[in-house]
Amino acid sequence: MSIRILPPLLVNQIAAGEVVERPASVVKELVENAVDAGATAIDIEIEEGGRELIRVTDDGSGIAADELVLALTAHATSKIARSEDLEGIATMGFRGEALASIASVSRVTLSSRPRGAEAGATLDTEGDQSGTPRPAGMGPGTRVVVRNLFFNTPARRRFLRSPQAEGTRVAETVRALALAHPGIGFRFLVDGRERLSVTASASLRERVRAVLGQDTDAGLLDVEAADGDLRLRGMIGTPDLARATARALHVVLNGRPIVDRVLQHALREGYRGLIEPAQWPLAVVWLEMDPRQVDVNVHPAKSEVRFHDPQRVHALVRRGVRSALGAEDLVPRLDLTRSTAPAGGGRMATGAPYRPAPPMPASRAGGRGPGAGPAPTPRERATGPSGFDYQAARHAMRAAAPSDLAFTTGASAGPDPGRDVAGDAWAAPTAAPSAAIQVHRMFIVTEDAEGLLVIDQHALHERVMFEQLRARILAGTLESQPFLVPEAIEAGAGEMEALESLQPLLRRIGIEAAPVGPRSVAVSAFPSLLVERGVSAAPFMQSLLARAAEAPIGDSEEALFEVLDMMACKAAVKAGDRLTPAEISSLLAQRESVERSSRCPHGRPTTLRLTIRDLERQFGRR
Ligand code: ADP
Ligand code: MG
Repeated sequence: MSIRILPPLLVNQIAAGEVVERPASVVKELVENAVDAGATAIDIEIEEGGRELIRVTDDGSGIAADELVLALTAHATSKIARSEDLEGIATMGFRGEALASIASVSRVTLSSRPRGAEAGATLDTEGDQSGTPRPAGMGPGTRVVVRNLFFNTPARRRFLRSPQAEGTRVAETVRALALAHPGIGFRFLVDGRERLSVTASASLRERVRAVLGQDTDAGLLDVEAADGDLRLRGMIGTPDLARATARALHVVLNGRPIVDRVLQHALREGYRGLIEPAQWPLAVVWLEMDPRQVDVNVHPAKSEVRFHDPQRVHALVRRGVRSALGAEDLVPRLDLTRSTAPAGGGRMATGAPYRPAPPMPASRAGGRGPGAGPAPTPRERATGPSGFDYQAARHAMRAAAPSDLAFTTGASAGPDPGRDVAGDAWAAPTAAPSAAIQVHRMFIVTEDAEGLLVIDQHALHERVMFEQLRARILAGTLESQPFLVPEAIEAGAGEMEALESLQPLLRRIGIEAAPVGPRSVAVSAFPSLLVERGVSAAPFMQSLLARAAEAPIGDSEEALFEVLDMMACKAAVKAGDRLTPAEISSLLAQRESVERSSRCPHGRPTTLRLTIRDLERQFGRR
């Protein structure tokens, strides 16, 4: 075949392949045009999932009758004029492609009446055939009707999913756009039935509530952060609202809903340790920045962008999310009304099942895990391994100075800490620290101003160790203890290889390890914090090398956190360890000072709260 210039219809259809993927992309383009036209209210209607009909009506600036044909012509736009304009795009559209592309694969009727014009005009098109504009009676604004999408490109029409599935995509697009433009009213109708109706809202919270559902409202935290002209605002969900998919995560950049890996990563980083790694937070964030600092011209649908300084954006988002979460009391509430349901397990108030941490092997050298420690004392035998340790509790109560336990019960607000338990008079002085007891060598039970706290000793201590290690590494003050006699371990070929790439990370965490033969490694220094906690270097190094041989670890921040996780888990007290009163009170004191103490580093709760209100209700006092 000889080379030829393609006819315009074909060119547009090819372009449509990129811009117009399905009804949802048509809706997106039409709504963005309405936004660019300064609309204050936008109506969207679809029939048969948008396959048969899409109608978008706005009250924006309108198009003059003599420009209707031009609006439908490829590369015709009123939004940019020179190459320089591409450097700082402030409108949703700029490619001048959408209407022409849509018109090349459907039957379009474009009607418009500019503000201030006497009357409107309307124009029908089919393929590249367009008639001449006829006068039309209508209010100011523009209406675009798209019928029979892909009627002339059967291959693409076959590619469409069921009306139901396409309708769902359109609904998602409309929700994202409604979140992106809180100042604009939106109405969305599917086969004549109203699915969404929001008026221009005064506050972001109002819009988020209207679009994402009232039930999320209680768990929405405000986010606000800035770095020069880079501004972040938004609403993020408490960890309990986390989902299995990214569908409830909305990022809006300069009014444009975008999908961006850098920002998604930053958001999840902000939640690190508060949600499980496979989960996605619920979040709606608006980012504003100088349009010259971001390139939106990298994707035909403009849903992906390229930041000039992704690090800066990443840091801002992560910081904003972290500080919003840090300011909150994130202890999940034990819901008695639900926990009495079958299957025994307690449930959090949000309905997310609470899974206890898996049992940890009592590997701590000299640890007091079952079978590992000294024989039980007579007192231990008396209470049994699963008995309440009143003695310990009483000591914990006395040992802790008020300054250590910041969650002492307020004199007026809190419950009476001197309440008599099991006939043992606990004469707690007023404003004294709350009592704490260890239960089944697994949990610590204490109180705060709102009620009863049940703490998973391993999970909380793991978080404490994690934060201490992290803080010291970031401050460059993690002490490393050299060994007089290096500890040697055997390693496989893959592990020897992994050791080399692990070196930068090992240095950061205070581990010195070097090959001393083709199949053996000597560990000659280990973090003091772990040594103090009785963690043996050799088995730790063995499991780290095994992990690194499986998949490269690298020395990214993520890798560092993963290894800190491993260290924290090893160093933490285990389920089954009996804690001394001093250990209990120090753990409780650390709970108050450590960041994100409500969850262990894996995102599972460390603490559950049973409120006094709930207890009173259950006992029929209310
Ligand atoms: P782009 O949005 O990239 O400019 P489009 O093909 O989407 O390209 O639209 C072409 C032109 O038609 C726009 O630049 C604008 O001038 C005009 N237009 C399209 N839709 C509307 C609308 N709803 N209201 C006013 N003008 C519109
Ligand atoms: Mg456009």
